[in-house]
Amino acid sequence: MISDALTHMQNALDIVERSPHPTNKIAATLFGMTNEGEDFALGCTNHWPDPIYEKVGTQQKIGNSSGTIHAETACILKSQHALEGASICITDPFCPNCAKNIAEAGIKNIYLDEDGFDKDFFKRRGNHFEKMSMQICERAGINVYALNMLTKNRRVILEIAPDYKPVEDSPIIAEPIESINEGIFNQIIETASEINQRRKFAVALVKSPRGNNFALIARAHAVVGYSMHKPEEALDLLTPRGKYSFIQEPVNRLTMYLSRKGHTLYPDYFYCSQVPTAREQVNLVGGGFKRITIGNTQKCRDPEGIKAMEQLKSLGILDYS
Ligand SMILES: [Zn+2]
Repeated sequence: MISDALTHMQNALDIVERSPHPTNKIAATLFGMTNEGEDFALGCTNHWPDPIYEKVGTQQKIGNSSGTIHAETACILKSQHALEGASICITDPFCPNCAKNIAEAGIKNIYLDEDGFDKDFFKRRGNHFEKMSMQICERAGINVYALNMLTKNRRVILEIAPDYKPVEDSPIIAEPIESINEGIFNQIIETASEINQRRKFAVALVKSPRGNNFALIARAHAVVGYSMHKPEEALDLLTPRGKYSFIQEPVNRLTMYLSRKGHTLYPDYFYCSQVPTAREQVNLVGGGFKRITIGNTQKCRDPEGIKAMEQLKSLGILDYS
């Protein structure tokens, strides 16, 4: 098993210089087994998604979000296979946002290049890695190892008990549906808005790897492994830690769930009850999504999301209906 990880880490190291980022070049390789029992692997660097690179450039932000997408998240969004139980090799210790995405995508093993811990980049961001990223992995039940590429040794950073089951007190609702059309879409949105009252939610109509159709409903919630049932804990989870938070926004949750299960979105049937955050919108572009339907275009967690929507809309990068 360690030889697999070493090979995939080498592949990540081989592509890392292709990252267009001028200073922080990072690469990741996602690998696992398809539903048919075949090996798959996919490598990505951090990068600007093509439409952003071409139409916005590298100097401008999208709302308050950088226009880049991290290597780990790019791999997850681009994967064509169900990621439940998959592994990922990363050249550097990962940020809390990627930790949340890895957790929600059902990835169970993370391998980091030991050299990544010596870089300036880690020294500046190490605190978030220790305090948040690792905590998220522990709660979600993800093993984390460091690989020494010279000695070929594996160091355990975090190992999870085999019988550990993370709490999931607001799982994504997956409702089987017969056919895909506007009427069904509207009906599901109506049901979802009744369930969620005034809370923010997202809906997607998807096809499973076995060819079955599902309607998915997600609301914002703390990342898998964290319960929000106790009010004082929920309040703590809702408090941002600098630029990060333990909450996973509904659009992000749905896109990660698609990767977890290997579902394919019906492109015209993706809905969010309000404007997604700037980061969610950049991830959508990075995932190749072209269109989203918004319930209330005046409402957003913060004004930056609205700004991002206006930018991406006016440049024809994302279509908002
Ligand atoms: Zn990241």
